Amino acid sequence: MTSERGQGAPRLRYCRRCGIAETRPHLRFDEETICSACRAYERRPAIAWEDRQRRFLDLVEQYRSKDGSNWDCIVPVSGGKDSHYQTLMVLEMGLNPLIVMATTDKLSDIGRRNFDNLKKLGVDAIEVDVNPVVRRKLNRIALMRIGDISWPEHVTIFTVPVRLSVQLNIPLVIWGENTEDEYGGPDEAASEYRLINRSWLEEFGGMNGLRVADMVGQLGITQRDLIAYTYPAADDLERTGSVGVYLGYFFPWDGLSNAILAKAYGFETYGKTVEGSLVDYENLDNYQTGIHDYFMYLKYGFGRAAMLASLHVRRGRLSRRQAMDLVRRHDGRFPSTYLGHPLEEILRDIGMSLEQFQGICDRFTNRRIFRQDNNGRFIRDEAGRLVKFNDDNPEDAEG
Ligand SMILES: [Zn+2]
Repeated sequence: MTSERGQGAPRLRYCRRCGIAETRPHLRFDEETICSACRAYERRPAIAWEDRQRRFLDLVEQYRSKDGSNWDCIVPVSGGKDSHYQTLMVLEMGLNPLIVMATTDKLSDIGRRNFDNLKKLGVDAIEVDVNPVVRRKLNRIALMRIGDISWPEHVTIFTVPVRLSVQLNIPLVIWGENTEDEYGGPDEAASEYRLINRSWLEEFGGMNGLRVADMVGQLGITQRDLIAYTYPAADDLERTGSVGVYLGYFFPWDGLSNAILAKAYGFETYGKTVEGSLVDYENLDNYQTGIHDYFMYLKYGFGRAAMLASLHVRRGRLSRRQAMDLVRRHDGRFPSTYLGHPLEEILRDIGMSLEQFQGICDRFTNRRIFRQDNNGRFIRDEAGRLVKFNDDNPEDAEG
C-alpha cells in the first residue's frame, strides 16, 4: 500500500443517522456527527405548522390579484412530481396561477409529456425556451470550468420566473421545496419567506461561483444572449414588490407523497430505477442529469443515490445499514446512459468527445476522497467505479 498516494488523506465522515457525507455544500455536522439536515428534520414536529399555514394564507390574500384581472401568482415548474404537487396545492387554495417553465437543458420525451400533463390540471402556462445554441455553449463552458453541466438550468430556474414576475406584474412567486431545508443549509437560509434577491441566488442557487457576467466574451457570447439568465434590476423588483416563498416552509415537504399524488393526476414515472438513482419518479426531464449527478459524486463523494437514501433514512423508511448498502450498489456509476440515452449522444450536442469528457472528469475528481496509484491515476474496481479511501473497510463508513 506504500505505493499508493494519499495515505494521509482525512477519512470522509458520514452522518451517524442518515449516512450522508459531510462534503455536501452547506451541510454541517455537530459534535455528535449528526448532520444539519437530520437536525432540521428532527425539529419538524415542534414546528407550529398551523400558524405557518395561516401566515401563508394571509400572504396569498395580500398579494393575489384583487379584481381577478391578472394571475394571482407565478409557480415555477419543471413538470416533475413536485411541480404537480405545487400546482395542485395552489389550485386547492383557490388561486389562479400562471405556471412558468424555463425549459430544461436537454428535455427528455417523458419530461415533455409530464409538462403537458401538468397543464391539464387546469392552468395557464408559459414555457420559456431559451436559445439552444447559447445554452449548449453555456453547458460546455460550465462543465469545463466548474464541473457542472447544469449551470444554465440552475440559473434560469430562478431568473426566468422572477423576470416574468416583474414583466407581468405578478409579485408572488411560489417555489416548491427549499432544498437548503431538506439538505441542511444554514438555518437562516432554510427559514422564513424572503424578498427575492440576487445575492441569495448566487449563494444558494447552485451557481458554484460562476457568475452570469463571467460568460460574456466566451465562445462569442454577448450580453444580449444572456437576457434569460440575467436577474431583474433591484429597482424593478422593488417596483413590483416581488416576493418569493417556498411551499415547503409552510407545509411539510415529502417527495414520495408528492410522487404518489402526481401519479394519481397522470404524472408518468420512468417505470424502472433511473440510472444512478434509487427511484423511478424524479429527475426525468433532462438527459444531462446523469452527468450533473456524476460530477457531484466526483467532487464530493456522494451521488443521487446517497442523497435519496439519506432522506428516506431520515423519514424512517430505510435503516442506515440498508441505505449504505444501496449507496454502495448504485452511487457513482459512470453515466454511460441516462434515461436510456447514450452519453456520447448527449456530449455530441455540446461538441465534446468522450475522451475530452473523461479528462474533465479526472480534473474534477477529489483526490482526498478517491484512491490513486503511484502515478496519480485513479484506481477503479472491476466494475470501473472509482475506489474511495475508506471503501475497503465498511466500518469506516459508520460515522
Ligand atoms: Zn444526517
